[in-house]
Amino acid sequence: MNSNHLGHQPEAHPSLLLIPAGRKHPNIRSIGRKEERAVLTRLQQILSIELDRLSIRDQQLLRDFVDLPSFQLPVPVCKQQSLCPSLLKPEMFLWKKHAPTRGLPLNEEFFYKTPYQSLSTRELTVHLQEVIRDYVFCAWVQRLNQNTWIERIQQAYREHPFIVLARSKQNVVRAVEKMNRSSLLGLLNYPEDLSYWRHRVEIVMRPYRSIPPDWQYEICEHEKDLSLDYSTESIHVTCKECSYGVTYWPLTAQLQLPHEVKMEQAVKRIATIERQFDQMALQSLRVITSLNKLRSLKKQLSSYEPLLEKLISLKEKLGESKKDHPALSCYEELKKMDLPEENITPDLISLAKVSVPDAAVLKHAEKWQSIDNGSLESELAELYNELLMREQSMQPQPHDVLFQIKDYCLTRAEFEKIKACLEETELTLSFHLLVQTLLGEATNKVRRLGLHETEIFGMLSQWPRKYITEAVKAQSI
Ligand SMILES: [Zn+2]
Repeated sequence: MNSNHLGHQPEAHPSLLLIPAGRKHPNIRSIGRKEERAVLTRLQQILSIELDRLSIRDQQLLRDFVDLPSFQLPVPVCKQQSLCPSLLKPEMFLWKKHAPTRGLPLNEEFFYKTPYQSLSTRELTVHLQEVIRDYVFCAWVQRLNQNTWIERIQQAYREHPFIVLARSKQNVVRAVEKMNRSSLLGLLNYPEDLSYWRHRVEIVMRPYRSIPPDWQYEICEHEKDLSLDYSTESIHVTCKECSYGVTYWPLTAQLQLPHEVKMEQAVKRIATIERQFDQMALQSLRVITSLNKLRSLKKQLSSYEPLLEKLISLKEKLGESKKDHPALSCYEELKKMDLPEENITPDLISLAKVSVPDAAVLKHAEKWQSIDNGSLESELAELYNELLMREQSMQPQPHDVLFQIKDYCLTRAEFEKIKACLEETELTLSFHLLVQTLLGEATNKVRRLGLHETEIFGMLSQWPRKYITEAVKAQSI
């Protein structure tokens, strides 16, 4: 705050600084009413006593805050000549410089709720004691800039016991959340243990889930609002984007989350749900065995990956959905799964590395064991050749009939000839001329254009004219 040129300091009241409030009235004419002048006198009397009671340190803080040789309490004046109903909170001046010619903004949040003019002397004393306390706290906060406070809050956040726990247990927390949604969970023994575990997860995970992702182990990087809570001498730091905030006590560097937990309980609980899961996994060794079988199958098939991919795309091209070889369906199913490189063990952390879209696939693990690694390569190569031959047979052939009406057939070879001829000639042939040429009618025009010398002249001379017309139309020649 730099109040030097902000307001008017009445001579009779050295502890007051009259400041115009409201953008429309940026100056003060005079405080005309007698009652109001009496209020100023009362303010001055109480203030001079209360300010004297402050410690040397607090007095210095207040002087620094207003940047004046002695502290003067800002008293807002509305409409040039009357005292505003309530006093200004020090936050109006915290880390801010107000233009002397503009008048202070009439922002409700920066005004106290107490209408001080009608208070008795005792009540006004109590109110002013609070106001001075707030100014001292605010002056103390202003010694450092906002960024420095945010850095200190960041530090305290990192060191908060729950954040320390969440960071140290992040692999367990992530694994619990992943397994809680995993299709594998339904395969674990026993159903009653499982439903108890899930019930516990909802309770234990609550504090971890209550922290937004951007605040997981550090405070977020968005812009923050800092506001002071005078009654508890704390700073609230909030992020609008995350709808989250914490409270910090600058005097003790303590930090509080919106939902504090009992730390001893939280430490025990996270360890317990991990242990309970591991017990279920130990009771479900068949699932672990099946998963390890699938894992080694996946590894085994990975060396044939290019061939398997070629086989699958060839089958798609041929419109075949049938899987001729179990390795094909096995490969396709395993492709959808995430399996770790290392051996899967019956515990939470290891199982959380497994992702199976459909747990029913585990039933096939036994069936797929019949895939013989020794002969797999030759079997796949044979299947590939077979498919290639099938593809070949489906390739277009010159004798394919593209159009037929009664006994008259237009073959692919004939069609290609007509197309090539039309592409070669520089003439734009009318439909009628083309039909005449195909029929072999050597009219004057056909001769003049040299069409009687083309390869297609008379090619369909045996055809009735109307069928040629239809064939030409049907093939969009
Ligand atoms: Zn944020």
